[in-house]
Amino acid sequence: MTMAGDVPLPAFFFYLTTVLLGLCLGSFATALAWRLPRGVPLAKKARSSCPSCGHDLRARDLVPLFSWMTLGGHCRYCRAPVGWRYPLIELATLALCIIFHFTFGFSAVTLCAFALAPALVAMADIDFRHKILPDVLNIAVAAAGLAAIAVASLEAFDAPAHLLSMLGQAAAAGLLYGAGSFALRYIFLKATGKEALGLGDVKFFAAAGIWLGLSADSLAAFLLLSGALGVVIALLWKKIMREAEFPFGPALIAAFLAVLLWRGLYFVVI
Ligand SMILES: [Zn+2]
Repeated sequence: MTMAGDVPLPAFFFYLTTVLLGLCLGSFATALAWRLPRGVPLAKKARSSCPSCGHDLRARDLVPLFSWMTLGGHCRYCRAPVGWRYPLIELATLALCIIFHFTFGFSAVTLCAFALAPALVAMADIDFRHKILPDVLNIAVAAAGLAAIAVASLEAFDAPAHLLSMLGQAAAAGLLYGAGSFALRYIFLKATGKEALGLGDVKFFAAAGIWLGLSADSLAAFLLLSGALGVVIALLWKKIMREAEFPFGPALIAAFLAVLLWRGLYFVVI
């Protein structure tokens, strides 16, 4: 499926669009990962500056990935090392966009999926460092899913009927995932006295449900995979960070992506 209509554009154009969008979204993801935990409003026009020397960064210092690579991971002005976290966030966002392009093709629905990339990557980074999944990113994941359903419905023979039925399924799945994980959270809390699933995790379950729909296979795979990845992260966290409380969000995000790519988009008309 392409958006080219009657005049086919070369495939190269679509790949280039994906790469450029992926780089911009990667830059946006670093802004999300930096600003959200610090309570800096996203709309605020803050000049970027070097945290070491305070020098204002110019456009040429802020080109995603390339600035970091050409400067060898150092500030252009004071040579202080710039962490690898931000180029990694940019790279992960770009990689997700390219994977979505290859898996779902290039379409308006895929553009909605692109919106997932910065939200999920920023979420994973924020959860690793602060052990929170910000509400605004859970809302973004849910909203992108609803937008994808609306856009996909435009392709349906009976668009309003398709939209209604898919929104019904998304709402039911969101409720099922949300309520189910809330029940798990309650059981863990009662049984162990520990908060194994945070409320942010429960909200992520609900948002993931919108994208995964009412498929028993998807739900089973999501639960198994996130549980297994959660155990791996918990063990590594205990060994490396020496903390009992570990971030579960990255396991949920990785499992969600794996199931989404494996099962495809249930609401897309084929
Ligand atoms: Zn500097």
